[in-house]
Amino acid sequence: MANTAKFDLVILGSGSTAFAAGLRAQELGKTAVMTEERTIGGTCVNRGCLPSKNLIEAAKVIHDARHPRYPGLTPAEIGLDFRKLVKQKDDVIHGYRKKKYESLTGGQFGIERGHVRFVDEHSVEVDGKRLTGEKILIATGSRPVLPDIDGLGEVPYLTSDLLTNDEPMELWQLPRSIIIIGGGYISLELSQMFRRFGAEVTILERNEQLLAHGYEPHVGQTIGEIFQSEGIKVMTNAAVTSVRRNGNAVVVGLHGGDKTSELRAEKMLVATGRHPNSDKIDIDKSGVEVGKHGEVRVDKFLRTNVPHILAGGDVIGSATSSQMATPVGSQDGGIAAQNAFSDELRAVNHRVTPRTIFTDPQIATVGLTQEEAIAAGHSCWCSTVSMELVPRAGAIRDTRGMIKMVADDETEEVLGVSMVGNSAGEVIHEAAMAMHFRAKIEDFIDMLHVYPTMAEALKIVAISRYKDPAKLSCCAE
Ligand SMILES: Cc1cc2nc3c(=O)[nH]c(=O)nc-3n(C[C@H](O)[C@H](O)[C@H](O)COP(=O)(O)OP(=O)(O)OC[C@H]3O[C@@H](n4cnc5c(N)ncnc54)[C@H](O)[C@@H]3O)c2cc1C
Repeated sequence: MANTAKFDLVILGSGSTAFAAGLRAQELGKTAVMTEERTIGGTCVNRGCLPSKNLIEAAKVIHDARHPRYPGLTPAEIGLDFRKLVKQKDDVIHGYRKKKYESLTGGQFGIERGHVRFVDEHSVEVDGKRLTGEKILIATGSRPVLPDIDGLGEVPYLTSDLLTNDEPMELWQLPRSIIIIGGGYISLELSQMFRRFGAEVTILERNEQLLAHGYEPHVGQTIGEIFQSEGIKVMTNAAVTSVRRNGNAVVVGLHGGDKTSELRAEKMLVATGRHPNSDKIDIDKSGVEVGKHGEVRVDKFLRTNVPHILAGGDVIGSATSSQMATPVGSQDGGIAAQNAFSDELRAVNHRVTPRTIFTDPQIATVGLTQEEAIAAGHSCWCSTVSMELVPRAGAIRDTRGMIKMVADDETEEVLGVSMVGNSAGEVIHEAAMAMHFRAKIEDFIDMLHVYPTMAEALKIVAISRYKDPAKLSCCAE
């Protein structure tokens, strides 16, 4: 066939997973090619982690100026030019994308643009060109789930793709009001951001509380209360049954308790989860098996059922206890490339995967929740301590939140930590490192912590195993 190119590794996708794999293959002296139908770099840099964190921090600047925590500081109103703010976000993304993605391709690591599909188990086709690989990596990521709601196809709605750049769905105008369907991490980050920019925000969550799955119940309750205090309307047990357009507005039909009602807003954002992109690549032609949620099935070495085809990142969903997050995908990519070309197989290990939701205060977790620890057969010791007991939180007048430690009652090994609090996303790394080395409750107490830091929250919650943490002097054990 005339238009055919051969590579050691053909990668479907060009996100963080794909880049890590391509670079690793290159280090191993192999040729690799990625394929991309949207923007090079994938979700994280273009429409996920980076743009969201850029705008969330800008919204925090506005909020903190409006609500100084210290008596003696006068609230100030910062002007907002939303278009200009979005433009600077795009400039940051363009710079980052160039430096960390585009400039890394070339030579034996290339990219082909267009929609990719399998032709057979060794070949894919992109824009009429056939790419054949000795090994193949599926790293096509995920996309927003669209729930089955009556009328959704007939109304304009946003997804997290509103954060994108160089694509038509980017949001350039701040809505006056927005309804956000879903109460997971993307909903939480974006709802607080929109509220702080000045929009009226309503979150509709069909479960009893926010972050209903995979988090300690306290976490969702705590952040829900903080959100309400900022003027975000949080409606739980609220199932959306229909949507319709009314002039320029969207009207959402709800069922909650035994009542039905309607809500109206200028915009609606659907944030009800993400679906692996395994369904538009003619995967059946490769023979690769897919699970019931669309996740590509892999073993702990990231191999699919077809020996020379591997998969990693968002597209494997929760296979191997994975999480949809950039560092997980990047690690997967490196491991997959290594395993593709080496006999020394490396297994993925997701026992310790720290996660952060970039709300204010941040939510950070690692390891098991109490429920998960009990389900795994542990006799559980768990303790929750308020941020009120953390000296730094008091000193800087930000005592919002809590920390919970989950440990095995007999061995005292720490199995999980959940924190809602200032800098929780930084603090969680101490817990993660400790858990990596299978630390016990006592280890968190023995280790000297800098005073006064938010990381002391870990030591204080560990101390609560033995005594009342409300009766400690400063730094005392
Ligand atoms: C709003 C938001 C905020 C987030 N914030 C964070 C965060 O703060 N921290 C964090 O760790 N994670 C965050 N994430 C998750 C993170 O972005 C993803 O886990 C990560 O980007 C997944 O990387 P990936 O390489 O597996 O997939 P992707 O980055 O999605 O890459 C897959 C690529 O494949 C392309 N593709 C798919 N199908 C085809 C096809 N048939 N043909 C050609 N190309 C195709 C897609 O266009 C895409 O570019 C966030 C996600 C979102 C949506």
